[in-house]
Amino acid sequence: MEKPLLAVIIPCFNEELCIRKTVEQLFVVFKSLIEKNKIQPESYIYLIDDGSVDSTWDIIRELHNENPLVKGQKFIRNYGNQKALIAGLEGVQVLGCDCVVSIDADLQQDEWAIEKFVDEYMNGYDIVSGIRNDRRTDSFLKKSTAIAFYKLMNLLGAKIPVNHSDYRLVSRRALEVMAKYPETGLFLRGFFHELGLKTAYVKFDVKPRMAGESKFNFIKLLELSLTGITSFSIVPLRIIAMLGFLMALFGFIVGIEAVFEKIFFNDAPNGMMTTIILLCVFGGIQLFCVGIIGEYVGQIFREVKDRPRYIKDEELK
Ligand code: UDP
Ligand code: MG
Repeated sequence: MEKPLLAVIIPCFNEELCIRKTVEQLFVVFKSLIEKNKIQPESYIYLIDDGSVDSTWDIIRELHNENPLVKGQKFIRNYGNQKALIAGLEGVQVLGCDCVVSIDADLQQDEWAIEKFVDEYMNGYDIVSGIRNDRRTDSFLKKSTAIAFYKLMNLLGAKIPVNHSDYRLVSRRALEVMAKYPETGLFLRGFFHELGLKTAYVKFDVKPRMAGESKFNFIKLLELSLTGITSFSIVPLRIIAMLGFLMALFGFIVGIEAVFEKIFFNDAPNGMMTTIILLCVFGGIQLFCVGIIGEYVGQIFREVKDRPRYIKDEELK
């Protein structure tokens, strides 16, 4: 196989403190890979400005003027990191590349793992997923919720590797397959693992954020995981149906028993407390279940509207 033309895509949301250094550092990696004859010298970097309100886009434009191998596009507003990644994948597919690696703007992922990604690509893998060695840099809350999320997803039938973030290489072939999936709420981590293309795993170290603060807050993470679940698994809906059936069965049996007692022992069950407890428990379960169904209805709602995933403001090619 011919050595690949590599593209690296970077989603950026208010990353003015990081991107210049990140791009410079990635070019150091490129240089070493070009010297080792592992990638084409025209390999490039593609930054997606996810509606930043700081000077991120100005810096990207500067970088592009200094070196045309820095390319990018800007969204008209903040769409979130998944959409930025999708835009990057679509952008480099149009510009042309053999494989593409996505990495964060704060370079928390060890950029030297890209070499191993490319090696695996040369071994014939279409997808190479980066797996974190540990989560030392994450707060306790983030670590525990993330682990719970991966456990839940796997339990629900979506086989996402634990500790995989969006640091991965995908081949041009995988990009072509992705183009056939029009859904707006594409959850990339699950998506690339369901495709069934040949996948390799590479372990990498996580570093602390280079500068600035995390651009993810609790709400954004919750949103990401809910999309992840509702776009990948209908098991929650089945559990609800089962739960409803079991509850009805339980009510039916208790009802018969009450009638039975009344007739034969003239001893009807009573007590305000029982009523209140039952009301709260069953009312709560029902509301919770309606909420879960609502998540799916919301997902359908978003998909049938068939809105574009994102709107491009400007592109530097
Ligand atoms: N990001 C983005 N849009 C957002 C939030 C984050 O494009 O709405 C980008 C961000 O600029 C970074 C990557 O997603 O390149 C990961 O974000 P961050 O490092 O803040 O997340 P963390 O590492 O704390 O999970
Ligand atoms: Mg980060």
